[in-house]
Amino acid sequence: MPTSLPEPDLRGHTVLALHAHPDDESIFTGITLRRLADAGARTVLVMATAGELGESRVPLRPGETVPERRVAELERSAELLGVSRLVLLGRRDSGAPGGPASTHHRALALGDPLQLARRVAEIGDEEGACALLHDDEHGVYGHPDHRTAFRIGAAATDLLGITGYGVTVDREYLHLSEGGPHLVHGAAAWAAVPYGRATCEIALAVTGDQAHLACKRAAITAHASQLDESDVPVEGFADTYGYEWFRRRGRAGPGVLDALGNAHLFATA
Ligand SMILES: [Zn+2]
Repeated sequence: MPTSLPEPDLRGHTVLALHAHPDDESIFTGITLRRLADAGARTVLVMATAGELGESRVPLRPGETVPERRVAELERSAELLGVSRLVLLGRRDSGAPGGPASTHHRALALGDPLQLARRVAEIGDEEGACALLHDDEHGVYGHPDHRTAFRIGAAATDLLGITGYGVTVDREYLHLSEGGPHLVHGAAAWAAVPYGRATCEIALAVTGDQAHLACKRAAITAHASQLDESDVPVEGFADTYGYEWFRRRGRAGPGVLDALGNAHLFATA
């Protein structure tokens, strides 16, 4: 892990990031969002749900609901990651396939992806966005909401005619990593699905220095209703969480993620 990295100048560029649940932004794209902000880019985080089904592991205030707590945690995470604007799409966590929440009328997985993509594209249009980060075709690990986030993100990318970066994890890297389990391991076990991609399917890996890593860890642990600091121990954090992986749709651009400097590590997927 390098001690410091020269940042490209991304002033004047805007990047949209679409995620399914509060905490996904920090776990899968925390370093990337922080580095984009540090490089001067404007970042807009679009959150599809408020993670309604994530039971709180800490007591809530009287009258406080899980989504209220999770949105407050998301706001803190976004602040730590230098996000310029946070937009809530207002859909609801779909939970496990076949579970009671999967048929809720606001369940993200039941939403019309094209209609939601038009909303995301409107935001991208008014922001003049040059790139959109969203889940890859597998939804990183297959959660129905993450798969829907892919369909929304891919359609919005097409509507905007910009470069799309599909968020995933490198399962070969994580298998060999000595840093301990990644949160995606638990999530994939919960969903009983495989996760991530083979290294050769990944176009771009973004890494960061110690400050970016500390920032990512602080953003993850801002979601204190969902996880304890001991779930992401400092020891091994750089190994397990020090890279963020993307598949690319559209051309590589100097004003987008490719400028963060790690594209040379991997062949184009
Ligand atoms: Zn999620």
